[in-house]
Amino acid sequence: MLQCPNCRSKDIGKIGINQYYCWGCFIELSLADGIIKTHQVEEDGSLSSLDDLFDEDERRYSS
Ligand SMILES: [Zn+2]
Repeated sequence: MLQCPNCRSKDIGKIGINQYYCWGCFIELSLADGIIKTHQVEEDGSLSSLDDLFDEDERRYSS
């Protein structure tokens, strides 16, 4: 089960192939090589990475 590394919510919606959206804190998540990448959607629709905020351990996805 995918869990948001930001807010720990498991209320994650799938929006595309390996792309997810967290309904807890409204950030976008994507999966690459077992690592969860986090992106914030800016007001202009662009994405900025939040990965610097998390250790790789926190972002590792284990099913
Ligand atoms: Zn979240």
